[in-house]
Amino acid sequence: MKFYKDHYDVVIIGGALAGLSAALQLQQKGINDILILEKHNLPGGLATSYVRNGIEIEATLHEMMSIGSKEDRLKVGVFFDECGVDIDWLKVPEAYRFVEPNKGIDITLHSGFERMANEIDAKYPGWGPKVLEFMQLCNRVYDSMNTLSVTPMSKPAMLMKHPDFVKTAGYTATEVIDTFGFPQDIVDILTPYWIYVGNPMSTLPFTIYAFLMADYFRGGSYVPKKYSHEMSMKLQAKAEENGAQVEFCQEVEKILVKDAHKARRYDQLRLRHLRSLSEQGVYTDDRAAVGSACRRHKDG
Ligand SMILES: Cc1cc2nc3c(=O)[nH]c(=O)nc-3n(C[C@H](O)[C@H](O)[C@H](O)COP(=O)(O)OP(=O)(O)OC[C@H]3O[C@@H](n4cnc5c(N)ncnc54)[C@H](O)[C@@H]3O)c2cc1C
Repeated sequence: MKFYKDHYDVVIIGGALAGLSAALQLQQKGINDILILEKHNLPGGLATSYVRNGIEIEATLHEMMSIGSKEDRLKVGVFFDECGVDIDWLKVPEAYRFVEPNKGIDITLHSGFERMANEIDAKYPGWGPKVLEFMQLCNRVYDSMNTLSVTPMSKPAMLMKHPDFVKTAGYTATEVIDTFGFPQDIVDILTPYWIYVGNPMSTLPFTIYAFLMADYFRGGSYVPKKYSHEMSMKLQAKAEENGAQVEFCQEVEKILVKDAHKARRYDQLRLRHLRSLSEQGVYTDDRAAVGSACRRHKDG
């Protein structure tokens, strides 16, 4: 008996957060005949943890943005809810602490636009309202980006409905922040967190900065109570419950495409007739041997 079926509507390579989320999104659209192939022996990919001396250490994720509270769910939180994947989210109590010993700055900011503006005001009296105005601009750009990313819109309509997005879109974070005339200490406080995006503020597009700031200070950040594998395990379980086949220790080495030479002629973007792997017998017979060496960590 063959382990794999001869045909799947969709084959997903990689059983980490993106691959499993893609499967669940397809399943929401009624596509259930899905095979997910993961080369590692458990799901999650980069989002993984390990235990040393009794301490569980997250390799990558230290917090998740775009979750939001139950009352004000943001994009990623909505996604998990809509998929029926119930994660026990714990809110990270503070947004961040910024310390600059040479200037005597030590400030902890919390989520909530007014709250963080008041926290800055307490250290730099009189600047709170301007910080709030700045955060509200970030929030309008954030709302526009969420709308424009899923709603096709003509340029005139965009100008009318999303003026702040259009006005700031061509500028860097530094250029827009400069227009508020903040003292350098406040600029330092408003900008340290996003260095891991990889750009200095002088080249980071304001839209990206604004999106991150608004999301972060609006909804705060969260961690799954049972660490990042709570997400991957539950995503996997839900995908399987909906009919997907998920296999571990299955590294995809080759993608065989029937009539590949014709595909570009018909459509530059679509690869037609992706042949199922089992048809080629690539994995069918090897599985028992590989499988015995690997464990499926379905239940954690
Ligand atoms: C140091 C660090 C810190 C981070 N901190 C955060 C954070 O705090 N918050 C946050 O939201 N994000 C954070 N991220 C980003 C986040 O971890 C990743 O964006 C996310 O986990 C990527 O998921 P993915 O599914 O796209 O890719 P991956 O996790 O890379 O998954 C790809 C999967 O495909 C599998 N695969 C690859 N090739 C094959 C093949 N040929 N056959 C079969 N399987 C294959 C891999 O084994 C893997 O499981 C951090 C990343 C790093 C590196």
